[in-house]
Amino acid sequence: DQPNLDYKIVLLGDSSVGKSSLVFRLSKNRFCENLEPTIGGLCVIQNIEIGESEVKLKIWDTAGQERFHSLTPLYYRGAKGAIIVYDITNSESYKRATDWILELRENGEQDAKIVLVGNKIDLERKVVEDTTAQKFADKNDLHFFTTSAKTGEGVNQVFFVLAQLISQM
Ligand code: GDP
Ligand code: MG
Repeated sequence: DQPNLDYKIVLLGDSSVGKSSLVFRLSKNRFCENLEPTIGGLCVIQNIEIGESEVKLKIWDTAGQERFHSLTPLYYRGAKGAIIVYDITNSESYKRATDWILELRENGEQDAKIVLVGNKIDLERKVVEDTTAQKFADKNDLHFFTTSAKTGEGVNQVFFVLAQLISQM
């Protein structure tokens, strides 16, 4: 039997942390300084090769609901994976990311795989230490990555590992 290799994943995090830029980097391998703020839900489909198999990720980029917290359960319903993003230069966004993770663990799919991502590592003014995020990730049994949507560093790895975790390959 052909296994189901088609999965919904969601990106969550404060506005401006770089969620849309990460998806843009993954799908188009490009970066844009002034990406239009996302309006409405946006879904990008990306195939990721894992060994001999191809996993299809339906990536939902949350859009503006950062501000309308109560709407988001609709977004992560049915999601097998979640990428929770913060901006390494913004401690408030890190706090929000950890809140998201706790919320997903409580209200999301039982077996959803979650990865924590510290984005914008190309910037000098880091305020959230990697060790802080890594400790939180260890304690909550998550993977932690740092990325730059601007340079592309670490971006593919995030989606690859998540696809791998979800499909258990
Ligand atoms: P979203 O609201 O989470 O979707 O964030 P966006 O993708 O719209 O990005 C918000 C702003 O941060 C934009 O001006 C982006 O150009 C910028 N940005 C996103 N990712 C990076 C990054 O890795 N490095 C830098 N320097 N800027 C970034
Ligand atoms: Mg966006």
